[in-house]
Amino acid sequence: MAPSFADRPSKKLYLFDVDETLTPARRVSLTVFQFFANPFRVRCIVQLVSPEMLSVLREMRKRAVIGVVGGSDFTKISEQLSPPGTSVLDEFDYVFAENGLTAYKLGEPLPSQSFIKFLGEERYKTLVNFILHYIADLDIPIKRGTFVEFRNGMINVTPLGRNATIQERLDFEAYDKVHGIRQAFVKVLREKFADYGLTFSIGGQISFDVFPNGWDKRFCLQHVVDEGFEEIHFFGDKTYQGGNDYEIYNDPRTIGHSVKNPPHTLELLKEMFNL
Ligand SMILES: [Mg+2]
Repeated sequence: MAPSFADRPSKKLYLFDVDETLTPARRVSLTVFQFFANPFRVRCIVQLVSPEMLSVLREMRKRAVIGVVGGSDFTKISEQLSPPGTSVLDEFDYVFAENGLTAYKLGEPLPSQSFIKFLGEERYKTLVNFILHYIADLDIPIKRGTFVEFRNGMINVTPLGRNATIQERLDFEAYDKVHGIRQAFVKVLREKFADYGLTFSIGGQISFDVFPNGWDKRFCLQHVVDEGFEEIHFFGDKTYQGGNDYEIYNDPRTIGHSVKNPPHTLELLKEMFNL
């Protein structure tokens, strides 16, 4: 066991998903502004962790090591898990944002990772050039703009374009169901770039994500496996196949706990720690 956690009686790590495990899901409100250049805007209302959850986590932390792993970026996770004016880094021993691409241990940053670091500029250029050519040659009813969105841990690809209106998205979704545009696209990419080590994941209405194999929540485990924990427990709500907790929940390195919502998480923790 690393000396950093010598003060904890239990040599176990408890890792938590964020949305619907520690905090209620963010409510999404859709506001339509047809007169503006950007035809719609999605506004997220941040749902804070409850005071009861925070106090249970603080009690746990006196006895064991605790961490949080979320798909969102650090700013969003911090907003959800720490009351205004405080930092999530003060509440958890480990904070893993973007599934661990951004990572902190005891408030200090660990080495970060990104899609472009993983692939390298040359291989990325080959991939994105192929994607843009493929989209250019696609005959679909309409096209808009922003066909490849570059993010820290992935790229998001859409033959329609991200800045389409709600109606245009719905129309594309229906068209895609019949013609399998995304399915065919992903099949070609899987064959063409088989040696790149990438996962192609179709989701939502108009796009698919491209990211390195294993860059789901399991990614964060590399930061903790060498710490000598007796057990690594993981709590998450989307533990079913296709859910974003599925891989880490089923990983042999973790003991998985499937929860329905934050009150259910509280119930389990109180029972486990006699609180
Ligand atoms: Mg969740």
